[in-house]
Amino acid sequence: QYIHRAQGLVRLMGMLWPTLEFILGIAMIITLLVGGHEVVAHRITPGDFVAFNTYMILLIWPIIAVGWVVNLFQRGTASVKRIDEILRAVPGIDDSEADPAIPADAVLRGEIEFRNLNFSYGETQVLRDISLKIPAGSSLAIVGPTGSGKTTLVNLIARLYEAPAGSLCMDGRPIRKYPLEVVRRNLGIVPQETFLFSETIRENLAFGVSASSDEELLQAAEAAHIRREFEDFPHGFETMVGERGMTLSGGQKQRLAIARALLRRPAILVLDDAL
Ligand code: ADP
Repeated sequence: QYIHRAQGLVRLMGMLWPTLEFILGIAMIITLLVGGHEVVAHRITPGDFVAFNTYMILLIWPIIAVGWVVNLFQRGTASVKRIDEILRAVPGIDDSEADPAIPADAVLRGEIEFRNLNFSYGETQVLRDISLKIPAGSSLAIVGPTGSGKTTLVNLIARLYEAPAGSLCMDGRPIRKYPLEVVRRNLGIVPQETFLFSETIRENLAFGVSASSDEELLQAAEAAHIRREFEDFPHGFETMVGERGMTLSGGQKQRLAIARALLRRPAILVLDDAL
């Protein structure tokens, strides 16, 4: 449908200029014929004729510009509508059940507990009766075939999706009691697909961490086993990574994402398929 409509637009635009010039040409001919005749018949002076012509030519550009502005306006309206949809979207997951006694800068110990958790995307149930306690400071590996729900479990911890009430606790309290900021601040996630911005390595690394010293940055890179490699780049940590990190290899991108997660020194570190 898009191709069809775009082709229609191109055809219309292609017609526009020749038509415009054709009409202008016709207008010129009519002016010359009628005006010339009037001058010859001494009903108007040659000065009147020249003045009329000049005014007409002066008017051409404003009229074309009006058409152009109308076009621009319509395209803009269409774009704004799309942006507006995103801006107006009200997140379904919010702080409405948060306990006001918990400050936004609260630090979690990092204990996670699933209690008889069931979760489904619409009709299809993905997680069934999961009970699991991960004590603070411990590590757990979850292994399973693709599509078995590992990422879903992780997304629930980050509260990207909402677990049923009472089925997910952190440090013994239901996750909904924490302001979203607390949950997200205490969590470092290395997602399956790394997202890098068209910025320097340093800025991608420190993304979301307002104040981090060079020392911390290097430590995080060191821990992710990527420091040496980045330092060998022509501009070191100031190297631009290109759109979505296209100048980095897949492994470098992933290690950058790991360093980024470590830099936050999160209470809970999640590596989703970060091999
Ligand atoms: P894994 O990480 O173990 O590969 P996922 O948690 O990504 O598995 O997916 C589990 C199941 O849930 C899959 O069958 C997948 O198709 C489905 N699924 C994942 N995300 C969504 C979503 N946003 N909407 C609907 N279904 C989804």
